[in-house]
Order: sequence, then C-alpha cells, then structure tokens
Amino acid sequence: MAMATPYTRFQTTLRDVFVKLDLTKEEQALFAEPQEIHRTDISFQRDDGSTATFPAFRVQYNNARGPYKGGIRYHPLADEDEVKALAALMSIKTAVVNIPFGGAKGGVQCNPKELSKKELQEVSRAYMRAMVEHVGADIDCPAPDVNTNPAIMAWMRDEYEKQTRSYSPAVITGKPLSYGGSLGRDTATARGGFFILQEMMDRRAMDPEELKVVIQGFGNAGAHMAHFLHGAGYTVVAVSDSQGGIYSEEGIDPVRIEKYKRKTGQVAGEYCTGSVCDTERMKLDGVRHVSNEELLELPCDILIPAALDTVINEGNAERIQAKFILELANGPTTPEADAILQKKGVEIIPDVLANAGGVTVSYFEWTQGRSGEQWTEDQVDRELKRVILEGYKAVRREARRNEMTYRQAAFSVGVKRMLDAMKVRGWI
Ligand code: GLU
Repeated sequence: MAMATPYTRFQTTLRDVFVKLDLTKEEQALFAEPQEIHRTDISFQRDDGSTATFPAFRVQYNNARGPYKGGIRYHPLADEDEVKALAALMSIKTAVVNIPFGGAKGGVQCNPKELSKKELQEVSRAYMRAMVEHVGADIDCPAPDVNTNPAIMAWMRDEYEKQTRSYSPAVITGKPLSYGGSLGRDTATARGGFFILQEMMDRRAMDPEELKVVIQGFGNAGAHMAHFLHGAGYTVVAVSDSQGGIYSEEGIDPVRIEKYKRKTGQVAGEYCTGSVCDTERMKLDGVRHVSNEELLELPCDILIPAALDTVINEGNAERIQAKFILELANGPTTPEADAILQKKGVEIIPDVLANAGGVTVSYFEWTQGRSGEQWTEDQVDRELKRVILEGYKAVRREARRNEMTYRQAAFSVGVKRMLDAMKVRGWI
C-alpha cells in the first residue's frame, strides 16, 4: 500500500462520507483536486548578502461559497501535499461554520527559527510579490497559521498595497490592531474551541472543577486555551511545546508557564534548561518533565492537540486515556487512530469545527476591513459564540440523524453546503 500523506488522509475521510451520503461519481469528482495550485521558488537576500531560495505554495481548493480563505504557514514540512490537505480542510471548515468563504492554504517550506527578523520580512514580502495576482479581498484572503503572526500579515498587506497601488485592508486577516486587525482575533481559535467544550460539558452536566485537561502545544491556540480553561475552573495538568512538556497531577498555572516561556523560550523553563532539569525543585512542586509522546497518553478527561498534524496515530491511539479530544491543531488524528478511538468510545471534536473560531473572527475582520466599521471586543465574542455554536449544533444534529462520528458529520455538513453552492452556480 502506498504511504499515506496528509492529502490521502483527507481523502480517506472524504470517501467515507461520500459513501454515507451516496454521492454520484460526478459530484465526487468536484472534490478530487484543488481548483488551483500555485507553486514557485521565492528568493530573498540573507543578512550576510547571499541569496537564499525557498519553495512557496498557495493552494486554492474550492471557492464555490466565496473567496478562498486560509492561513500561510512557515515550516520545513510545509510541502505541496501538506498545503493541499490544509486547503481542503479549510474549505470544509468555512462551510461547517457557514461563513461566506471557500478554502485555501499557503506555505513556505523553511525553518523560520533560523531567520532573523529582517530575513523574515524579506521572505514575507517575496511571498506576497510571488502570489500578488492570485490573492485579493474578493479572490483569496490569507491569514496566519503555524509560525506566522500579525507582524507578518502587516508586511504582506503593505507589500500587496504597494504592488497593486491600492488601499486593501481586507486582503489579509490576522493583522495587528494598529493596521486593520480585529479585536479578539488573537484569542479566536482557542475561544471558539472553548465555547464548544463548555457547551459539551454543560449538556453532559459535567463540572469543570472535576475535569483534567492536557494541552499539546503552547503557541497561539494552546496558550490561550490554557488560560480560558484555567479561568473557568478546569485543571490543566500538562502543557508542552516543541521541546517537551511538564505535568502536575494537581494542575499547573498557565500564567506562570507563560512568564517562563517568554523568559526562557520553553514551557518547562521554570525548571529546565534544554533537557537538563532541576529534578529536586520539580519534585518539591509536584511537577515532572514529559516528552510530547508521553504527554498524549497521560491520564486526563480532555486532550487538546494544539500543535502539528498526525500526533495521534496508530502507534499511540490505543494508549490514549482521554474521554474527549478537542482538535485545535489541523489534522492531529490519522484515520487509523480515529477508528481505534471510536471503538474505545472517545469523543472527538474534529479540527474543522474545533478550531474554526480563528477563521470565523477572520471573517469579522474582513467584514470590518470592507465596511470601515470597528467592532467592540464584546461584539466579536458574542458573534463568535453564536456562529461556532450554530456550527456545533449542525454537526451534532447530523451525527445523531445519520449515526456518524462528529468528524464524519462535520465533513457531511461541509460537503453538502459546498455541493449546494456548486449546484446553484451551475458547476454540475
Ligand atoms: N490558519 C487558521 C486555520 O487553520 C486561520 C485561517 C484564517 O483565518 O483564514 O483555520
């Protein structure tokens, strides 16, 4: 059997849903490949005067429901196949929360940790120059993703406006507040996931005070999630970043972790320098060091993967102890792991719903960019809650009616909405 890739994994889930929905061959064909794939090499000048080149991609999967929408990631593994899968997931995601966008994704295959700030700006501007014809407020609106942030969005908007001699605040979202950003965009991915989790626990009459949570990843999504959960009374027992994590049965304080992460660059920074830890102090505080692999298998009620893809796979699914998994990362669970977890009775809130808060507030930012209005933080929070819980309700209903998992149900809702749009547009 050929090796699974991110895109074949996406197709596996899709096929499963096609069968359940009884789609015709003609309908299925509309989902086979992205509508457009733009790939190029971008060159920029390094600080030492030499020229470096990175592969860059923008994959536009489907725009039946509106302009293409999706982030840009900077990562050594961001190749064409991965970006394709992420673009496809974005199309399902925007349909699940019913916002008027299609789906796309961008990537620069590089290690941004090896770039200076100046080089990062050079790369970001070069990316926008390379893609300038393919993006636009009505065409395709990028946003942040893994290793990209508001500063990068600002450079990209500025480059776009220079190249096109225009004023275009809505060409990109996730911008800084001082340059067309929206209040609440930075916390949106976590906030959306938090609203869903709260609703789920409420419906099951479960008390946050009695629930233990493990979070993998302490970037934008993971760190904000830790704060929201801690604030609502959940016990966050473990967190990690790419260098490893820490675990305490009694719970850890995300504010403290954040402080040390900022100071030392790692979540375990209060106790460790690299992999060398002060075990005496850890023992005293009831904390222990865990690898990212161990972290996923810790005893807990809720597991939140908030970093990279395929971390929950055939190799560890059997040993996962959580009863609920909320996927803040994109693609963290492989289809094989999905099947194992389903048998174990673990409930998974899939990425295309769980992390849709980010793109939802991107939509609010886009709207504000086009109208010139500014929303208050309360307004953003209220609307985000409404939109994401509507999405959750649609998925729950679909799952119940058709005996589907939440992932199948989310894909089903997304595929149906996309098909509807393709039909009314006369594509089929
Ligand atoms: N990168 C985020 C995602 O995967 C946000 C995309 C957006 O805001 O357009 O959903």
